[in-house]
Amino acid sequence: MVELNPFEIAQKQLDDCAEILKLDDDVREILRNPMRELHVSIPVRMDDGTTRVFKGFRVQYNDAKGPTKGGIRFHPEETIDTVRALAAWMTWKCALLDLPLGGGKGGVICNPKELSDNELEHLSRGYIDQVWQFIGPDKDIPAPDVYTTPQIMAWMMDEFSKLTGKNEFGCITGKPVTIGGSCGRDDATARGGMYTIREAAKKLGIDLSKAKVAIQGYGNAGCNAAFLCRELFDAKIVAISDSKGGIYNEDGLDLELACNTKSDTSTVVNSPRETTKKITNEELIELDVDVLITAALENVITKENAPRVKAKIVAELANGPTTPEADEILYNNGVHVIPDFLCNAGGVTVSYFEMVQNIDRYNWEVEEVYDRLDRRMTSAYRSVLDTSKAYKINMRQAAYVVAVNRVVESMKLRGWIKMK
Ligand code: NAD
Repeated sequence: MVELNPFEIAQKQLDDCAEILKLDDDVREILRNPMRELHVSIPVRMDDGTTRVFKGFRVQYNDAKGPTKGGIRFHPEETIDTVRALAAWMTWKCALLDLPLGGGKGGVICNPKELSDNELEHLSRGYIDQVWQFIGPDKDIPAPDVYTTPQIMAWMMDEFSKLTGKNEFGCITGKPVTIGGSCGRDDATARGGMYTIREAAKKLGIDLSKAKVAIQGYGNAGCNAAFLCRELFDAKIVAISDSKGGIYNEDGLDLELACNTKSDTSTVVNSPRETTKKITNEELIELDVDVLITAALENVITKENAPRVKAKIVAELANGPTTPEADEILYNNGVHVIPDFLCNAGGVTVSYFEMVQNIDRYNWEVEEVYDRLDRRMTSAYRSVLDTSKAYKINMRQAAYVVAVNRVVESMKLRGWIKMK
């Protein structure tokens, strides 16, 4: 079987939604392809005096709803099709949260682990030197993604500011708080996911203070999710895992101990045996819990294991954890899935708040960030739920319907396509 590349998957998801919405062919064609993409070569003087040329991309997928927004990845296996797919998904994610933004994404083919700090800084500045005329607060606003950090955003913002001759804090988000970053950005993805889990629990009549939660992936998103589940809901985290395997305790895990074990031994699996039982990642997915949070990789719930998923709620903090066949099985079995581009949209939402604060030259208190994030996530969740009921479709299809409808509406109002 030929494996679909990520952009073909993104186009297929759009095609399915276009069928539900009965979109005209010309509208489908506009939405199936990026509006604009830039391919660049970035020469970098290396520490040994040689010059290496890195390939980079910036894709601006659709800006009907506003300037495009999306992260920049530094990754050795980056491809233009991955960047196109991620830019498409950013378009739908921003529209679903009703942010006045379109979707974009960038990438550089490189292995940052092999670069010195000095080389990394030159590469980051070099990327901006190549793309600066195409980005900016009113055009396209990058952010961090895989292997790019707040420090890299700071260098990029500084380079852009030098090129334009003014302090352009709003040209990029995910910056350190001292130079225009937003409070609350660190755990925004997990926190946004928590608000959607709270709404789903209300709908299903689940008391989260008595709920058992399993989390696959104890990295940035998963670890923050574990602590927030405890802090916000007093829920019991019974299982967590990482790439080496997982641990389980039906009375609830000691999260601090798990964090210490992970930082000392690079995995949670080495937690003391008296308090935990070892489990595999496969077993974790099938545990009898109320909430399963996927916060690791793609394609972990498949048609093979989906029939055995016992969780009442599957919250997708990771991108693409459920295959299309598994989606149908979960839907038919009554498992409530909070789809990735809804569940993990807290990050881009707080990035948007960062832009707004930069424009106003004002720093919001963290409570204000949480409150605004809660309102956006709750409203997006309710739109998806209502659409899922109205069209009798699963939550992922419903999220697409809400998002694509908003982009199409904007294109109509701007006169890009004919009004009907
Ligand atoms: P991370 O690298 O910090 O953590 C990933 C975790 O997954 C690690 O604990 C790793 O050990 C674990 N893992 C890797 N392979 C695994 C496997 N085979 N089985 C189980 N666990 C495995 O990454 P992150 O930033 O937490 O991102 C996790 C997911 O959430 C990704 O899909 C990412 O795209 C998505 N996401 C993250 C953010 C964010 O703000 N961090 C925003 C949106 C989406």
